[in-house]
Parts: sequence; C-alpha cells; structure tokens
Amino acid sequence: MRVAILAAEAVPYSKTGGLGDVAGALPKALRRVGVDAVLITPLYLQTKGEYLSQVVMDDLSVDWRGQNFRARVFYSEANGSPTFLIDAPEYFHRSSIYGFREDYERFAFFNHAALRLIERVGAPPDIVHLNDWHCGFAAIEIAKLRRWDEYWQRTRTVFSIHNLAYQGAFGMDELWKLGFGDDFSRNAFSFDGSASALKAGLADSDMLSTVSRTYAREIQQPENGYGLDWLLRQRSDRLFGITNGVDYDVWNPETDKELPAHFNAWDLSAKMECKRQLLRKFLLPENLDKPIFANVSRLTAQKGFDLIQQVIGEVLATGAYFIALGSGAREHEDFLQKLKDFAPAQVGIYKGYNESLAHQIEAGADIFLMPSRFEPCGLNQMYSLRYGTVPIVRAVGGLEDTMQNFDRVNGTGNGFKFKEFQAGKFLEKIYEALFAYYEPETWRQIQRNGMMTDNSWENAARKYVELYQMTRS
Ligand code: ADP
Repeated sequence: MRVAILAAEAVPYSKTGGLGDVAGALPKALRRVGVDAVLITPLYLQTKGEYLSQVVMDDLSVDWRGQNFRARVFYSEANGSPTFLIDAPEYFHRSSIYGFREDYERFAFFNHAALRLIERVGAPPDIVHLNDWHCGFAAIEIAKLRRWDEYWQRTRTVFSIHNLAYQGAFGMDELWKLGFGDDFSRNAFSFDGSASALKAGLADSDMLSTVSRTYAREIQQPENGYGLDWLLRQRSDRLFGITNGVDYDVWNPETDKELPAHFNAWDLSAKMECKRQLLRKFLLPENLDKPIFANVSRLTAQKGFDLIQQVIGEVLATGAYFIALGSGAREHEDFLQKLKDFAPAQVGIYKGYNESLAHQIEAGADIFLMPSRFEPCGLNQMYSLRYGTVPIVRAVGGLEDTMQNFDRVNGTGNGFKFKEFQAGKFLEKIYEALFAYYEPETWRQIQRNGMMTDNSWENAARKYVELYQMTRS
C-alpha cells in the first residue's frame, strides 16, 4: 500500500505542538508494518540545515494563481522515513510557522504543490493522508481530479483531525484565486458565511479520523463541535478515533540524549539526578524531598491554565516546587512571571519554546499537571508516564482514554483524573497525589504502572492500515 502523508509540521523538521510529533512519527511506524509511506511537508526558515543536504528537484512546476511557480524539493530521512520538503521561500521562509493573515493561501499552495510532487514522483498513491485544516485543500482538489484525471482515479483520502478548534477560515471571495471557484468547491468550503479549509476536508475526504476515541465522540456534540458537529454526526460512519502513539526513539528515559542521567521502570534511581539537575537549571534550592509539579504547554485556554492559576497557590503552600515551560497567551505568561516573583525559591519558569528543556522537565519532575478544557489526544501525559512523572489530568478526550485513576485497593492506575472543570476537583486530586507521593512504595507503584503502559506507535499504525483499507469498502 502506497501512502502519501501531508502535514504542515513534522518532527524533526518543524514543530509547534502535537501535530508535529505525530506527523514525524506516523510514517516511520507505518513503514514498520509494511506500508510504503512518504511524508510531504513545507521547508520552513526554522527547519534545521542539517536535514537539508539533498535537493531532489529544483524545478517542481506548479501552476499557481495564473503563474508558473518553480519550487525546490529537498529529501531527507531524518525522521526515519522518506520525506519531501517543499521549498517555497515566499510562503515558508517567515519569522514563525503560523500566524499570518494569508496562512490559508500558504497552505493552499503547499497542498497544490504536494499533489504536483506526487504526480512527478511515480505511481499514484492508494491513500493521501491529510492532517488538520492546512490540508483541507488537497481533499477537494483530489475529489475533483478523480473525476477526469486517470492518475488520481484510484486514490482515496483520509483526513485526520488533530484539533477541531483550528479551522483555517478565510473569505469566500478568495476561493477563486486559489482555484476553487467552481460550485462543488464553494459548497465544500462554505461554512458560516466564510470559507473553511477544515470543513472542506471533513466534507469530502473518503474517511475521517481523530486522535482518540473519546474526542471522536465529543466533537459530535454541539458543545465541542465548533459548529461542525452536525457534519461529523452526518459522517459518523466514516469517523474513527485512533489514539496517537509515542515515539519511544525520541521519548525514552533510558536513551534520551537531552537527559543528564538515564533510568527505566526497574531502576528509577537516576531520576533523582535528573531532578537535581532540573532544580539547578532553574537556580532553585536542591531540596530533593519536595515534589516538583510541572507543566509544559502552549499557554492557551484549551490547556486549562486558568485552573492551574487557581490552585497553584495551595500547591506552593505545601512547600512543593512548580516548574513551567510554555509560551502563548500574554495573561498566562504574565501570571507565570508574577508567580515567580512571589515565590522565587519554589517556582521555575521558562517563557518560550525549548525542546530540550521539555525532555528535562519530563524526566526531573514528579507530577505533571494537565487540566485541559478539551484535549484531542494529548502527548505530554503519555511522555510523563514513560518518564515516571505522574500526571494529574482532566478526564476529557485522549486524557480520558490514556489515563486510569490510581486505585489504592488493588494498586492499579497510572495517575490521577478528575471530571468537572473546577478548581476544587483539581485540588482534591492534587492532595491525593501528594499523599501518595509521601508514601514511597505507593508512589513507586504508580510510577511503575505508568512506565509500563505501552503507548507505542505500532498499535496505532495497524489501526491506520485498517482505516486505509476501509476506504475501499
Ligand atoms: P498540543 O498539540 O495541543 O500542543 P500535545 O500534548 O498533543 O498538545 O503536544 C504538545 C507537544 O508540544 C509536546 O511534544 C510538548 O512537549 C511540546 N511543547 C508544547 N509547548 C512546548 C514548549 N514551550 N517548549 C517545548 N515543547 C513544547
């Protein structure tokens, strides 16, 4: 089976969040189960030069907005599988990966160029696997091409939702210049008075998936459907939840190159060294008995940071540390600064994006806070599990599916989980976790339960293969 995966970001070439982790790891996992998968992604200014040694094409011809555009294409296997990176400086050599008024045009171009690349490279793929709103354009283009172009006739599309909150909305008037002025396209994109690339992908892909089973159910409800729940209900026979895996080549405390010391479920002693170094890094006193609560996230409303703000005073009152790595909403960044000023000997903050620090926090912390308002899958709780850092999560989306609340009676469960989005409920779990932390044997048990949880990609890859096969039925 030949599969081309399109994604706006993919590790190690680019990353702003979980989509990058998933798009980087999935092709490798698919290859391991026998799928001929290739990844196609843009080459950004932020993509490290070390991945860009090989230009495979310097004249990919793309007819675009009435002109003939020539793009360069680089090839790399830095993520463990064949990857084509489309180089169009005008669109992708920018100060950040996203956040521009014409993002819709940038990714429409990426989709269009990716399809030309596929045509140039060889036989038609069986599946084009599209990810998030950035790839909605290709769903429509393929649906149209299939009607008259022999090359695309047997190709099917799978569209994966990594986060329904990001929709790629723009003015309907822009559709003409992107090559989607016909009635079929206009219908597909039209949503709530605007054009939505996400809606287009959901409306006309052959099969839909999202990144956990609970999220697949949640987004069919009006409260979590962002106005698209009706469409997802209409297509529910084509919508499946497949929980993301963890790339244990990258996130493994036994081998992680970012860590000062290594450990595993049988011998956790070096985790203490990671904790010591983490405290040192943040210039905090090295009181190793006190637990470190941690958070690594995009500081958006989604992540429930307001709930953390409400409880963190109580956490600090117990003498614990709090270490946060994140960037995002100004109000949350300001709060972190105030907290640091208020308790400089207990709080460590890093406002920004720092890959290596994310690994060191996972390894050195004791408890990971993830009280998300919604969470399509969530990767950080799964990384925490493997690093013996016990998550406290809200029972939504993928957090519900990947976490089991610790049960004292029979010793099962890998963390702590609460349901209502309320500071009081969150605090109850925090105290429960603290209580367990101060009982070393209980704590070891919870850590081990988490570290032994198998969230490898292999399972997920097999489910994607089934999904690909179902596009034929
Ligand atoms: P989302 O995709 O919604 O951001 P996930 O939990 O699925 O959430 O994935 C987040 C990914 O981004 C994880 O790999 C996490 O370590 C990483 N990450 C988030 N914020 C930062 C940051 N400030 N610095 C480094 N890595 C970060």
